[in-house]
Amino acid sequence: MTDVTNPLRLKPSKPVEPARRCKDWRILIVDDDEEVHAVTRMILGKVIYKDRGITMLSAYSAKEASQILARESGIAAILLDVVMESDDAGLQMVKVIREDLGNLAVRIILRTGQPGQAPEERVIIDYDINDYKAKSELTAQKLFTTVIAALRSYETILSLEKNKNGLTKILDSTSTLFQVSSIQNFASGVLTQLAGFLDCQPNGVICAQLEQDLSVANNRECTGIQILGAAGEYSDCMTCPMDGACKHSEMVQLIRQALSDKKTQMTDDYTVLYLETESAQGSAALLHGTLGDTDEHDRKLLEVFSSKISIALANALNYQKRTSAEAAATTDFLTGLNNRRQLLRIGVPLVSSAYRMNTQLAVAVIDIDHFKRINDTWGHDAGDEVLRIVGALLHERFRSSDIVARYGGEEFCVIASNLSPISAFDLFDDFRKTLEKMIIEIGDTKVYVSVSIGITTKVTDHVDTMISAADHLLYQAKHEGRNRVLID
Ligand code: GH3
Ligand code: MG
Ligand code: MG
Repeated sequence: MTDVTNPLRLKPSKPVEPARRCKDWRILIVDDDEEVHAVTRMILGKVIYKDRGITMLSAYSAKEASQILARESGIAAILLDVVMESDDAGLQMVKVIREDLGNLAVRIILRTGQPGQAPEERVIIDYDINDYKAKSELTAQKLFTTVIAALRSYETILSLEKNKNGLTKILDSTSTLFQVSSIQNFASGVLTQLAGFLDCQPNGVICAQLEQDLSVANNRECTGIQILGAAGEYSDCMTCPMDGACKHSEMVQLIRQALSDKKTQMTDDYTVLYLETESAQGSAALLHGTLGDTDEHDRKLLEVFSSKISIALANALNYQKRTSAEAAATTDFLTGLNNRRQLLRIGVPLVSSAYRMNTQLAVAVIDIDHFKRINDTWGHDAGDEVLRIVGALLHERFRSSDIVARYGGEEFCVIASNLSPISAFDLFDDFRKTLEKMIIEIGDTKVYVSVSIGITTKVTDHVDTMISAADHLLYQAKHEGRNRVLID
């Protein structure tokens, strides 16, 4: 439908005049008789309905009418003659409007001078028209009544259509928001969908309230607000120092307001959705753009939109919580490597499968030499930094299919598949040599570290027996003077 596909039109930036007059109703007169046009214009020219006048467009043939309808939008009613370029030109026109142009909203009032040519009963059943009048019965008063009735039903259709479009947009947009896998993804999704809903550019932010008191009367600071995502003009907000002065002071103020009132707000230029979730103190999505002339329907739709997004946000927050809990359970917080639990979890099936399939596999235990001295000499933080560096080097040296883990303290473990004993020795000895030569700078001091490594390539069906064997060789390497690799 040409005239109702975009009911949620963006309001133009601030109106120049405070009292904007709504656009006139548009009516198309289709008749091959100039006289009919003149009389209709005279009768309807001064009519005002719901504070809106009537603008009349004229077509003198069905062909011309089709061209006007294809070009113009927002035509509420058509006063349509039947006999024009052919005896049933007007009736054919009805089919063009409804079927070819797909315009179901426009009200069609058939106005015929020869009722015998198009009998009322047949026409009203066979053609999708809304009223049938013989020109002879159409007095000024009757024409007025007929047109007002048509405008009224056109308005109802538009409002229903607008509602339907809004709900469709909400359903379409929110379903994608349930599939997001990170808060940043979610935030940019919300901004895009909200922009689509309001029919404006995605310039905005989505943020959550932090635990702190938000009532601090310092509107130039972002303190207390955590930006989850930002787009367009507000992209720089992602890196905004929370305690610094923010150049988007109006945005900050509006968000604070929405968060403290716990209500969705609309100003002349902004839409701020308040999003209620159980796990966050409160969140808000702000977009630089608003719906056009809003009515009760629009506000209701925005409410539905907010509640849908709130549910999706709760979903995204829960997902994040779950994934960070999972990460914490499987990852070593200091080095980011697998922890011992995860090493065993993935290592058990890997080792027993290598045993069953009779494939090569190496298990190595790596221990930093005299690590205690590093702690004792430069402090625990320096020790932590050394652990991180050794962990990063291990991570870099091994394939993603290998399991690299911090086994505990200053001890690491690697399980590498499809590795011959010779390759395993070379690989770990090369790692040892690299580390031995590495200068680790901590503050002003240069620290050197070495490692001792025990490797077993004798595959058993239990990962722990292989780790014990490697550990035994490591112990031997320590005894033989450290900074060396022993393999069985
Ligand atoms: P060796 O060559 O025989 O392995 O001597 P070492 O000093 O490395 O071994 P030892 O077992 O005597 O000391 C290990 C030290 O590692 C003791 C412990 O405080 C320290 N350590 C364990 N975990 C951490 C950690 O997370 N951070 C820091 N900084 N130190 C740790
Ligand atoms: Mg005619
Ligand atoms: Mg050690």
